[in-house]
Amino acid sequence: MTTTLQYTPLADIPKIHEELRAGFYSGKLKSLSYRRYQLLQLAYAFQENIEAFNNALYADLARPPLESDLAELGAILNEIKYVLDNFESWAKTEKAPFNIKYAAMKPIIRKEAKGVVLIITPFNYPLFLAIAPVAGAIAAGNTVLLKASEQTPASSSLMAQMLHKYLDPDVIRVVNGAVPETTKLLELRWDHILYTGGEKVGRIVATAAAKHTTPVTLELGGKSPVFIDPSCDLVSTTKRLLWGKYVNAGQTCVSPDYVMVPEHFKDTFLKVLKETYNEFFANVSPSNFTHLISSNAYDRISSMITSSHGSIVAGGMKGADQAQKFIPPTVVENVRADDSLMSDEIFGPILPIMTVKDVDEAIRFVNERPHPLALYVFATDNAVKKKVMDNTQSGGVLMNEILIHIGIPGIPFGGVGNSGYGAYTGKYTFDMFTHFRCSIDAPSWIDKLLSARFPPYSDKKRQA
Ligand code: NAD
Repeated sequence: MTTTLQYTPLADIPKIHEELRAGFYSGKLKSLSYRRYQLLQLAYAFQENIEAFNNALYADLARPPLESDLAELGAILNEIKYVLDNFESWAKTEKAPFNIKYAAMKPIIRKEAKGVVLIITPFNYPLFLAIAPVAGAIAAGNTVLLKASEQTPASSSLMAQMLHKYLDPDVIRVVNGAVPETTKLLELRWDHILYTGGEKVGRIVATAAAKHTTPVTLELGGKSPVFIDPSCDLVSTTKRLLWGKYVNAGQTCVSPDYVMVPEHFKDTFLKVLKETYNEFFANVSPSNFTHLISSNAYDRISSMITSSHGSIVAGGMKGADQAQKFIPPTVVENVRADDSLMSDEIFGPILPIMTVKDVDEAIRFVNERPHPLALYVFATDNAVKKKVMDNTQSGGVLMNEILIHIGIPGIPFGGVGNSGYGAYTGKYTFDMFTHFRCSIDAPSWIDKLLSARFPPYSDKKRQA
């Protein structure tokens, strides 16, 4: 059953914005206990409706429920719990490091909410990528306008319904819609904008924000490379790689986009990769593998496969189903740098394999291209790991793992260069939506120590 997403009328958008501004100035969220209450309601909105949300995700993406449990509902509840456990300590005013000259002025850093924030989210993990930042924004005391993805009508419409039911409308509102609605939102003044999505739209968002000098965080995508070193544990490497590539049918911002393997090691690597592929996907079908989000995405991915000069090792268009927007997990070898698979972010179930001479060539290849969101190295040789880490730039760099850094508490998730700027999850989200406001309170007697600054100026004062 398809859900029709009710778009928010354009004329209502400025009014919703004003109401959120009034909600912020009501001062409700100055109270940490009110923030806690809203965060708990946020958790209940999902916990009490897990089945409905799973059904909505299935309707939008035909994603196997286990993937949704791990990547969306489970991850959302973990993130909210982590925020609930820690936000009161993050919100504490900090004292400046002791300095005898200024100590009497009691220099402090107050953690103040930025105000009314706009969060714009993509289709691929329509719940987690919305709710993880929402939790941090509320924890920091902001009111929030969430613009959910129009490409996931069932999930976005249920999310709007539940957030409006469980949380205070002074604190959060959801706007549903596409380009006209987002464009309208971007005309307004926000105190921070977090945008997650593609690079092209990221530039539109940053340009619109600049008109109001609004700070922006851009969580973008790109081509995240994998380097396979001959020292790696091949069974574990191929398992992690194929899982990470094909989860959500490759529609993941940190999906391994392409693999580089040394020429002399390629056959050994491919032999084990094929065994693991057969173990995972011997019975792959539209009923147990996520579908592509749209017919456009299906057409884009299928033409990438058919126009590639590489050779298909597994999968391919033979088992594809256009009506269901299903393309089987596909591995392509002998891919060259100028292949159609190497121009844009794939964002679908194709894994191109390229050969390189050695790790140095792989490093050069990465450095000649825009900085990726993630860089993956499979190796047990510590010198290889260190060499890649020390000589490349990327949002995150993972040794012997794929994707899971977004769920690890205490580390920032974000890009660098073309893959975005700013970072989030956990305390990083709280900090992103916080103004670190310095403050001092200077007693008058300090003038005895600091009186030289007052005119009239004299040489005697300069020498004192
Ligand atoms: P998208 O850029 O098409 O859409 C994201 C949001 O922008 C949607 O809410 C959409 O309504 C809005 N939008 C689209 N066109 C717009 C326009 N012209 N003006 C204003 N708003 C507009 O992205 P998508 O297709 O939903 O997601 C895929 C992209 O997102 C990939 O590039 C992926 O790598 C990236 N992504 C990044 C992260 C991350 O955390 N870094 C996470 C997930 C996805």
